Amino acid sequence: MDADSLELLRAGLRDVPDFPKPGIVFKDVMPLLANPKLMKLAMLALEETAGGQRVDKVVGIDARGFIFAAVVADHLGAGFISVRKKGKLPGRTIGTSYDLEYGSASVEMQADAISPGDRVMIVDDVLATGGTAAAALSLIAELGGEVVAASFFIELGFLDGRARLPAGVPVHSIIVV
Ligand code: AMP
Repeated sequence: MDADSLELLRAGLRDVPDFPKPGIVFKDVMPLLANPKLMKLAMLALEETAGGQRVDKVVGIDARGFIFAAVVADHLGAGFISVRKKGKLPGRTIGTSYDLEYGSASVEMQADAISPGDRVMIVDDVLATGGTAAAALSLIAELGGEVVAASFFIELGFLDGRARLPAGVPVHSIIVV
């Protein structure tokens, strides 16, 4: 991704102060998704983080992660899997709880979503404290998936979320703030 494209992507983001709680600066990707050129650029940038490797499944995290992950999965010829908030997925699920930047959460994945040995990429819009991604990675590990990339459109560098992710997981972010 060239510097001009990155600058366009940066400019497409909107900071919303004090949302959803005082003190949080919410990184709003909706203006970017509403612009077809920027959306295409963003998806291309994320897709490139796979580095041409074979990917069997792309895991998206509830809820904006679904948008990014589903498009990336389609481009990579991979399946799409969702990690959802507790109680949303039917059938047999596995789950875990964790703390996040604002509050705490429990997430689940369908137990048959990933087969042992699947090459898995996870995609989300924002890496903040890393709790959500770490939870998703633990569910993937429980099902025997091999994580080839954990890719985020935005990384909040000052929170050092990547330190919370297991060693050996290749972490990529397009825009670091
Ligand atoms: P975390 O578990 O702290 O890394 O939080 C990541 C999840 O929360 C992602 O799914 C994000 O969509 C959301 N999130 C956390 N902080 C922010 C933020 N400042 N702006 C937008 N989304 C955020």
